[in-house]
Amino acid sequence: MTDHLTHIWRPIPGGRHAFPPSAIRINHDDQAESYCGMQVAAARLHDCTELDWILEPTCTICWKILKSDR
Ligand SMILES: [Zn+2]
Repeated sequence: MTDHLTHIWRPIPGGRHAFPPSAIRINHDDQAESYCGMQVAAARLHDCTELDWILEPTCTICWKILKSDR
């Protein structure tokens, strides 16, 4: 439908959260903020494995925010 990314999902300890696409361009030493307001080291957004995706549950707060956004 669209080739324009509106958000990205990243698994971090505690859950899979949604971030604005700009979050992956943040300096690795800085903090990125998920849609639900969680502060995460930007380096974490680049450093995830297949296993992280399987183990971490999707954050329901991020999910609801993105759903109500459309
Ligand atoms: Zn979240």
